[in-house]
Amino acid sequence: MRPPRLLPIPFLLAACPALAQAPVRYDVRFDNAPHHEARIRVTFPELDPGTLETRMSRTSPGRYALHEFAKNVYEVSARDGAGRDLEVSRPNPHQWDVSGHDGEVTVEYTLYADHADGTYPGVDRSHAHLNMPATFLWARGLEARPIRVTFHPPPASGWKVATQLVPTDDPFTFTAPDRAYFLDSPTELSDFRLREWTVESGGRSQTIRLAVHHEGSPTDVDRFAEIVRRVVRAQTRIFGELPEFDHGTYTFIADYLPWVFGDGMEHRNSTILTSTRPLAGEGALRNLGTVSHEFFHAWNMERIRSAALEPFDFEEAVMSRELWFGEGFTSYYDDVALARAGLRDLDAYADGIGGSLSGVITSPARRLRSPVEMSMYAPFVDEAEWVDPRNLPNTFVSYYTWGSVVALGLDLTLRTRFDDLTLDDYMRAVWARHGRTGRPYTMEDLETVLAEVTGDAPFAEEFFARYVRGREVADYRSLLAAGGLVLRKRNPEAPWIGGARIVDGAGGALVASPTLVGSPLYRAGLDRGARIVSLDRRAVRSARDVSRIVSEHSPGDRVPVEFESRGSTRTAPVVLVEDPALEVVPFERAGRAVTDGIRAFREAWLGVRVPGAVPAR
Ligand SMILES: [Zn+2]
Repeated sequence: MRPPRLLPIPFLLAACPALAQAPVRYDVRFDNAPHHEARIRVTFPELDPGTLETRMSRTSPGRYALHEFAKNVYEVSARDGAGRDLEVSRPNPHQWDVSGHDGEVTVEYTLYADHADGTYPGVDRSHAHLNMPATFLWARGLEARPIRVTFHPPPASGWKVATQLVPTDDPFTFTAPDRAYFLDSPTELSDFRLREWTVESGGRSQTIRLAVHHEGSPTDVDRFAEIVRRVVRAQTRIFGELPEFDHGTYTFIADYLPWVFGDGMEHRNSTILTSTRPLAGEGALRNLGTVSHEFFHAWNMERIRSAALEPFDFEEAVMSRELWFGEGFTSYYDDVALARAGLRDLDAYADGIGGSLSGVITSPARRLRSPVEMSMYAPFVDEAEWVDPRNLPNTFVSYYTWGSVVALGLDLTLRTRFDDLTLDDYMRAVWARHGRTGRPYTMEDLETVLAEVTGDAPFAEEFFARYVRGREVADYRSLLAAGGLVLRKRNPEAPWIGGARIVDGAGGALVASPTLVGSPLYRAGLDRGARIVSLDRRAVRSARDVSRIVSEHSPGDRVPVEFESRGSTRTAPVVLVEDPALEVVPFERAGRAVTDGIRAFREAWLGVRVPGAVPAR
């Protein structure tokens, strides 16, 4: 999804008329919006003879599972340039083949759309929220054709358009230089509120737009725009410059509405942000994490881009070995940027990394897969739903979480082991080599840049071998101590029966997830679907009974559990252990002294970099 540099179409026509290709034209109507339908007409002109293969995508940029968008397409018909009906055949579930045309084909279809988020479209009285691969049918072989799309909002809807597509004189007509750019350009039509501001960086003046479709007040949007500006500034300082956005504009497209589904999706010059949380009160700050994450992707993912994603495949699931970097390092920085914008304090920051470290360090999945291998598993976890259950608690740690933990480890290692080096220096070096240049990277490239930045190739090799390709975790206790943070047990000496989800059910307590390998429940033979009948010889009627009985014991206690599973009832001893959960807290909260050295370290790492007062909550 890295389109070539954009040139205005008239210039292209003038400069190289021989290469000019007739644009594919889309026309989109929303006459049945209350019932979530869009009627879409697409015209493919100047075709070579033969069968035209038109398809719906199976994937969407930034998503790694298959989504089979053809399922919501119906009432498909095709005509030629003279208006004659053409035969349409279906060679596979995603494709409509059109034959017998006269060099032009117009396909019309109805799209059903009722899941507004970063992957799917949603059409209703309030908006048309369109993720392009889920909305628009395209034709094989015409990937390089320019695109022209015209939207027809319902009468008196008040809808405007927010998109990274290229505007024209008509406010409802836009263009894209090719299919990849078009499919990467989500589009929101609604009566949204728009805030925009100019950012000077790298000798360029660029525009940031924030389009918010919500039910709150204009004041909420003003306050939100102010904190978004702080995030933009904090992140720009990390890389030293804003990316050069195509057409000098970046657009945040935010839908904060009860009828959307929480998501965030990065694109080259825009992002989709969806949340059911309104912006009022604490909502603004709670919605900000996604803002920070997706905007960081403007550098790390959209321009610093894994070679595995180029060109993006709209027909098959895409596998990248580097999501621990693209998503994980971005997750590390989305929190760091909030701290540096003055929007997250040290306690909250410590709490966040504590949760991530606990999840990674204690996960049994580390026995099986490295951060690289977790990245390769994305097609089976990234918004993917399956009928047969996966054993995720035992086999998977999110590459977001583990990648953010790798980034934390690398940042603290650079800061403590090398003079004047931080992860910011590394990110800037990766940006110079692979971002600004648009040269996609491989894993070897990431290691090479680390070797160059540190001047220590053996260090880079060892770091990647142990923590990226390998399954080890760094010594976070001592790394964090430099910043005056303690990594410790969250519930010391508390009894623990295992991390499985236990819910009320069938008159007892039901184990509702796989039990964790090595945990007391697992060793006692319980797994998903087991019903705990009694514990410590006391009847169990609810999930709460289990935690109450466990809490009355100590680690090391041996307690009989009676459970029913798959047609048999049995009793086995459970040996309780100490709760393995970890947390991170500042020295101040652990009764330890904060030295001047620690204060300086924290200031250099997480200190506020954006001038001006932080808006009140
Ligand atoms: Zn992301």
